[in-house]
Amino acid sequence: MEQENLNPFQIAQMQFDKAADILKLEEWLRLLLKKPDRNLSVDFPVKMDDGSIRIFSGYRVQHNNTRGPYKGGIRYSPEVNLDEVRALASWMTWKTAVVNIPFGGAKGGVVCDPTKLSPAELERVTRRFTYEISKIIGPDVDIPAPDINTNAQIMAWMVDTYCMENNDHYSLGVVTGKPLCLGGIEGRAEATGRGVMITAMEAIKELKMKPNKVTAVVQGYGNVGSHSARLLAEQGIKIIGVSDISTAIYNPKGLDLKDIDAYLSKNKMLKGYPKAEHITPKEKLLEMKTDLLVPAALENQITTKNADKIQAKLIVEGANGPTTPGADQILNKKKIFVVPDILANSGGVTVSYFEWVQNIEREQWTYEDVIRKLNAKMVSAYKAVSDLAKKEKVDMRTAAYMIAIGKVVEATKFRGIFP
Ligand code: GLU
Repeated sequence: MEQENLNPFQIAQMQFDKAADILKLEEWLRLLLKKPDRNLSVDFPVKMDDGSIRIFSGYRVQHNNTRGPYKGGIRYSPEVNLDEVRALASWMTWKTAVVNIPFGGAKGGVVCDPTKLSPAELERVTRRFTYEISKIIGPDVDIPAPDINTNAQIMAWMVDTYCMENNDHYSLGVVTGKPLCLGGIEGRAEATGRGVMITAMEAIKELKMKPNKVTAVVQGYGNVGSHSARLLAEQGIKIIGVSDISTAIYNPKGLDLKDIDAYLSKNKMLKGYPKAEHITPKEKLLEMKTDLLVPAALENQITTKNADKIQAKLIVEGANGPTTPGADQILNKKKIFVVPDILANSGGVTVSYFEWVQNIEREQWTYEDVIRKLNAKMVSAYKAVSDLAKKEKVDMRTAAYMIAIGKVVEATKFRGIFP
């Protein structure tokens, strides 16, 4: 069999084209919206603790800002590359449009392994990277946030660096996902997982499944996966499998998430966890018997190689880009219902938007406010996508893209072409 194309940027473009074809989008709009507005690539030196100097590479890609400032996270990983960041930036544009918040799409990344950096080195990398991209970010221009391997502390260093760079302008809204004491918002850390839970529960209702009879497997037990699993369990769903980079564990009788969290606080990784079967290779977890599957790790996990073996009835994409277009075709044929990433994981950026509004208003919202507003946004976005999918007889991903592209195109036409 021919090797599948796994370039995330080309995958994002294929997904776009599928919806653009149905929308009969004009050629100039396709050319405009398929490519990012701006790709910034930087190489910068950082002093390491041992006195040596290392050169790091980083990216900030701004895909589209027609509906609002560019918006999207920064990831730290040795695998970061320009095409991955370009794909992630365009997914942000569609994500913010589908959930209807007034932002565009961007993404950034630094090629590094944060587990191999000391806290002081991590801070210096973050500050220098922020300086490198500071000319193109700002509370009304482009607003970074956490993503894989970045967190509230890193956002705090970014705010501090940006404010110092800008004559002490107190610009809290330049990044989201900040610590609570620095303009952060209640519930931001769990927001993506909460959005996954909300959309999963909507899909469960739509498929007429009974929540207390539903089993779930969650791939990835980081920020998105662990909160998704916990919040799904709170809804009565039985979590029977989870994985991290060290291993995958499975127990059809159900996993005790509190026990797992206690194990992780001591051991950091799931490796060696005693109360479940360990699946090898860990990727096989995706193929285990379950009703609901939540891929919440990385891109390209469900491909033409394993899509046929997936037993879940429902897939809710916590990660960005976990399913390839080839796998999508197979899943559609098997009538597996997929809630796409740009809808399912939009809870994170939605609460980022709330944080940004809170910063502009110099307000502090309560956790209850955040949950209520997030719920309303996500349920209405889910409903719009599901209604269109039924009306146009397309899958949920295509419907989500059609809505998102429609919104960006409408705004583009109103704004017109400069000059
Ligand atoms: N990194 C998250 C995402 O991929 C959140 C982005 C944000 O809050 O700007 O959706």
